[in-house]
Amino acid sequence: MRQKKRLYQAIACILICFFCIQAGFQRESLPVYASVTKESIRAKERQITAAKKDRESLKNNKTDLEKLKKQLEGQKSDLNAYISNLDASLTSIQKKIKDLESSIASKQAEIEETQKQLEEAKKIQKKQYEDMKVRIRFMYEKGDTYLLELVMSSQTFGDMLNKAEYVSQVSSYDQKKLQEYAQTTQLIALSEKALKEEHETLEAAKNQLSSEQASMQSLMQDKQKQLTAVNSDISNKEVAIAEYEAQIKEENDTIAALEKALAADKASLASRPKYDGGMFTWPCPGYTRISDNFGMRMHPTLKINKMHNGIDLAAPVGSSILAAYKGRVVAASYSSTMGNYIMIDHGGGLYTLYMHCSALYVSQGTEVKAGQNIAAVGSTGRSTGPHLHFGVRLNGGYVSPWNYLKG
Ligand SMILES: [Zn+2]
Repeated sequence: MRQKKRLYQAIACILICFFCIQAGFQRESLPVYASVTKESIRAKERQITAAKKDRESLKNNKTDLEKLKKQLEGQKSDLNAYISNLDASLTSIQKKIKDLESSIASKQAEIEETQKQLEEAKKIQKKQYEDMKVRIRFMYEKGDTYLLELVMSSQTFGDMLNKAEYVSQVSSYDQKKLQEYAQTTQLIALSEKALKEEHETLEAAKNQLSSEQASMQSLMQDKQKQLTAVNSDISNKEVAIAEYEAQIKEENDTIAALEKALAADKASLASRPKYDGGMFTWPCPGYTRISDNFGMRMHPTLKINKMHNGIDLAAPVGSSILAAYKGRVVAASYSSTMGNYIMIDHGGGLYTLYMHCSALYVSQGTEVKAGQNIAAVGSTGRSTGPHLHFGVRLNGGYVSPWNYLKG
């Protein structure tokens, strides 16, 4: 009896070792078992194929961010198009992320289901194993050693099943039990493989999710950058436009002022009567002595032979100077040579000049009549004594005043 007990222990040990190698040994035992069928094995095989396919499509599905970015870079010149394409890419990546999240969730559910099936199969295997031990012990005690011999002589599990089919002593009951055990073992192996595949698919999905999220983040940052650039570009343009508009306004104002001045000039030019050929009024009433006449003579102060371009009328300081003819004062000013002087435009290119004055009574722009008191005799500028230098210019050059004066 002691010897028998040791033998059972040895058998159990062999079986444990044998099945440990085949499918792994489970210590826990629970009383509820589902049956393992050919269909459940085929389902497990389909599950493995599906997981592999999922993983492959995940790999192919990956967004080519670099390509996308390059493509977008090319469109950067058209910022509106760039932004709208960026938005479209973001939408597509967001959809992809959502799909990935849902595929991760369903993969996790599949893994849980497979895990449950695996545990179930292991419980079935454990029960089948315990039953087999009991059966071998029972057969051995009955004197039938074929089951024990079968186990002992088999190198592998498949070898044992193969032998069981051909050894005549193995009953159809034991064959069936062995087949069931083999199926369970196969299911366990497949479940573990499916679990591995599903874990790998889950890992791939998670990796892709984080890569897509990184892509999205990068695109969002890019968009933010572009929007900032566009906005700053717009505000720069607005500043430039405002400056440009101010410049245009200034120019317009200047042109308007010039046009207004021009219009006034044109009007005054049109209204200005041309010199009508009338004789001049004597410019220094009561003083007819000519101290220096028009023409070449020795200059009194420079002591050189020089052209005297007007007539000098000797008169006391303060004597009246009259406009020789009607016209418009174009200059009432001072120079170091002319002293205080007046220049009157009479139209038709004819001007009169009055120099060395002590006082001026008109200013630039004044319209004067013939005989109007316009200044007082003096000795300002290059002058040796009080007198009126009276000059006449016609078409840009001096002419003899006597052409216009009653001599
Ligand atoms: Zn003179």
